[in-house]
Amino acid sequence: MTDPTSIADLVIVGGGPVGLVTAIHAALAGLQVTVLEARTPKQGSLDKACGEGLMPAGVAHLRALGVEIDAVGSHPFGGIVWEEDGVRASGRFPHGQGLGVRRLSLSRALRSRAQELGVVLRDGLRATGLAAGGVVTSDGLVRGRLLVGADGLHSRVRKWAGLSAGVGPIERFGLRRHVRMTPWSDQVEVYLGDGVECYLTPAGVDQVGVAFLWSGSKERFESLLARFPQVAQRIEGAPQCSPDRGSGPLHQKTLSVLGAVEDTPVALVGDAAGYLDACTGEGLSLGFKQGQALVRVFQAGQLADYPRAHARVVRLPYTMMKGLLWASRVGLRKWLVRLMRAMPWLFGRVLAANDGKLL
Ligand SMILES: Cc1cc2nc3c(=O)[nH]c(=O)nc-3n(C[C@H](O)[C@H](O)[C@H](O)COP(=O)(O)OP(=O)(O)OC[C@H]3O[C@@H](n4cnc5c(N)ncnc54)[C@H](O)[C@@H]3O)c2cc1C
Repeated sequence: MTDPTSIADLVIVGGGPVGLVTAIHAALAGLQVTVLEARTPKQGSLDKACGEGLMPAGVAHLRALGVEIDAVGSHPFGGIVWEEDGVRASGRFPHGQGLGVRRLSLSRALRSRAQELGVVLRDGLRATGLAAGGVVTSDGLVRGRLLVGADGLHSRVRKWAGLSAGVGPIERFGLRRHVRMTPWSDQVEVYLGDGVECYLTPAGVDQVGVAFLWSGSKERFESLLARFPQVAQRIEGAPQCSPDRGSGPLHQKTLSVLGAVEDTPVALVGDAAGYLDACTGEGLSLGFKQGQALVRVFQAGQLADYPRAHARVVRLPYTMMKGLLWASRVGLRKWLVRLMRAMPWLFGRVLAANDGKLL
C-alpha cells in the first residue's frame, strides 16, 4: 500500500535494465528511489526481446556499479564478425570485452544490486498516468520529486508527458530465440541479408541467442531463418530454450527527453527516450549512460541540462547507426564489409568509436 505522505526523490516507471541502472546510480548518490514495474518477475527476473550483446562500455559501467552477473547466463565476447555473401570481416575490440548476457541474468543481477542499495522495487504495479507530484497507479499516487520514464520502446510516460513524436520512418522489427548449444565463437556473428540481418550471440555457457532485425512487416522466426541457410545448418538439431519474443517498430521519436506535469519534472531514459535501431548493439550501454547523466544533472540541481547531456550520449552512436542503415539501403554495405575485411584494425576502431572510445 502506498504511503500518501512519503515522497521519493525519483519515481522510475519501468524496471528494465535502464530503469534499474538509473535507480542504482541514484541510490549510490544518496537519493531515495522507487521503481514501478508492471510485470511480476519470475524467479527474480524479467525477460525481453534483445540481442543481448553488451558492449565493453556497458560491461565496464555495470562493473563500476557493483553489479555482478552470473557466469552461467553470460559469455564474454571479444568482437564482431560481419558476413555477407560469403565475405567475412572480423573486428576485435581494442579496449575490454563485451558480454553476451541472457536478459534473465541481467535482470536478476540488477534487481539484486538495486535492492542491496535500498531501492524500493514495486513489482506488478503498473503506472496508469502522471499527475502533479507523482505517478498514478492502481495503488494510488506514488509521489516523487522527479518522475522518470524508463518504460521501454512503446513508452506510455513519453505519451502522457506530451513528449512523443510518433513512429519514425525506418520501419524495422526485431525477433529473438535461444537455442541450447555450447557457443562456438567468442565473437558476435552478424549475417547480413537483403533487408534482414541475423545476430548470433553467445548468451551463456550452453545457449546461443539468435536474433533478427528486418525491414517491412511482422514475420515468423522460421521464415526469417530460412533466409540464412548457413545459420539454419549451424543450429540444426539444437533445442529451442526460450520462447520467441519480438519487438517493433523500433524507430520511435521524441520531441524532448525532458518535460513536466505542472511543476513536477518528467525525464525519459533508455528506449523510452526515443530509439533508432538495434543494429549496432548499443541500446543497453547508451541507456545506462543516459541514466547516469540524468542522475548527475538532477543531483547538481541542473535538470534543465538533461536534454543536452542526453544528446551528447547518443550523438555519435546514432550517427554510426544511421550511416550503417543508409549504407544498407543504398547498396554500399557489401563494399563496407570488404573494407572491414581488408582492414581489421579499422573495424576494431569503428567498434571502439561506436562504444564511446575515440582513439
Ligand atoms: C531484437 C533486438 C535486439 C537487440 N539487441 C541488442 C543488443 O545486442 N545489445 C543492446 O545493448 N541492445 C539491444 N537491443 C536493444 C535493447 O533491448 C534495449 O535498448 C533495452 O532493452 C532498453 O532497456 P529499457 O530498460 O529502456 O527498456 P525495457 O527493457 O523495454 O524495459 C522497460 C520496462 O518497463 C516496464 N513497463 C512498461 N510499461 C510500464 C508501466 N506502465 N508501468 C510500469 N512498468 C512498465 C516493462 O514491463 C519493462 O520491464 C535489442 C533490441 C531488440 C528488439
